[in-house]
Amino acid sequence: TSRYDVIIIGAGAAGLMCAATAGYRGRKVLVLDHANKPGKKILMSGGGRCNFTNLNSTPANFLSDNPHYCISALKRYTPQDFVELVDRHGVEYEEKAPGQLFCKDSAKDILNVLLTECEWAGAEIRMNTSVSGIRQAGSGFSLKTRGGTLGCESLIVACGGLSIPTMGATGFGYEIARQFGLSVLPTRAGLVPFTLHPDLKQQLAPLSGVSCPVDAHCHQQHFREPMLVTHRGLSGPAMLQVSSYWQPGDAVHINLLPAENIHEDLLALRNSKPQSTIAHYLNQHLPKRFAQAFNDLHGWNGPLQGYRNQELEQVAGTLGDWTIKPAGTEGYRTAEVTLGGVDTRQLSSKTMAALEHPNLYFIGEVVDVTGHLGGHNFQWAWASGVAAGNVA
Ligand code: FAD
Repeated sequence: TSRYDVIIIGAGAAGLMCAATAGYRGRKVLVLDHANKPGKKILMSGGGRCNFTNLNSTPANFLSDNPHYCISALKRYTPQDFVELVDRHGVEYEEKAPGQLFCKDSAKDILNVLLTECEWAGAEIRMNTSVSGIRQAGSGFSLKTRGGTLGCESLIVACGGLSIPTMGATGFGYEIARQFGLSVLPTRAGLVPFTLHPDLKQQLAPLSGVSCPVDAHCHQQHFREPMLVTHRGLSGPAMLQVSSYWQPGDAVHINLLPAENIHEDLLALRNSKPQSTIAHYLNQHLPKRFAQAFNDLHGWNGPLQGYRNQELEQVAGTLGDWTIKPAGTEGYRTAEVTLGGVDTRQLSSKTMAALEHPNLYFIGEVVDVTGHLGGHNFQWAWASGVAAGNVA
């Protein structure tokens, strides 16, 4: 049996961060991963540029059944701490949207930071290695792999969630949790595009490819970001954000002109230019193709002077609260994250260790902590990885 102080299952964002942190403390660290390469999700993140943190990240940017759990780790390892690390490695980055930091060049830069840190810290990374069995051995653990049995004092589960199975996602982390008596909260796809019922999909087909800034909400959670109509349904940041709050059967409410007072605008326009049309009004505020198609979809014809007050109010209602019932989501195939996971009530918010098994840790996405779009999920991976790496 080869013995390590710390074995981490999962060479993703959280696992690599944790490995470097524990390695710098002089711990003998091994990271195991069944995939052929580490950090695959980092490489595909942020459209290949990795939105690696969000300077405005607060606990309010996270969903969890136990919302206070994430606070301690996030406070102890902040976005600024990660920015310092990235600066030390000379990675160039830019703030694309308020607070959202992306690599200027490539997501590879972030993976290289983590791999370099692991190397400097003396942490070993072993790819193409599946774990076929885990058992408690004294206060530590024994792991069966094809390459032999491995022993460790501390076992860290950093296997991520179920999203993008083609990138190596599995439910192994949840299995380990259950094996040791921890409960796993129901999981579902988050930050994922919506699919539409065939009728609506057909109606929206002319809008495919058009993006516009909206205010979308579901269960009182509002997101003022762009929405994108695709040939499959509704996507874009606003829809991805809302999807994390959406449950099957729920409606999604979309204000297409969040910056306007639509009803007053239409009344004023009817007064000043009675010959003007709703299509003309929409053209001024929405991308042309969207304006045209949306107008046609609702059959708004003729000059504004032909519309009664109540009719204009209805038009304003449709534009300000376009209500859609999605058929579903695209699911784990394209979801950026997995909601739910290991119940944090059984974990220490200081160390990320299981309360009943002090040497067994859960970090990153496998845990029931899920961030909004915009760099929050990586910030949780870094913060939870450091919290465990400092003690394991
Ligand atoms: P992962 O990074 O998923 O790592 C888990 C590792 O465990 C993987 O290497 C996997 O191979 C390994 N593993 C799984 N099962 C096993 C097993 N049975 N045995 C051994 N190893 C196993 N977040 C942001 O903050 N900003 C972004 O820009 C962003 N963009 C994204 C874009 C896409 C397309 C996707 C899918 C996600 C994006 N995310 C983004 C979310 C972010 O990638 C995750 O939240 C983050 O990677 C979670 O880190 P993790 O270490 O917990 O899991």
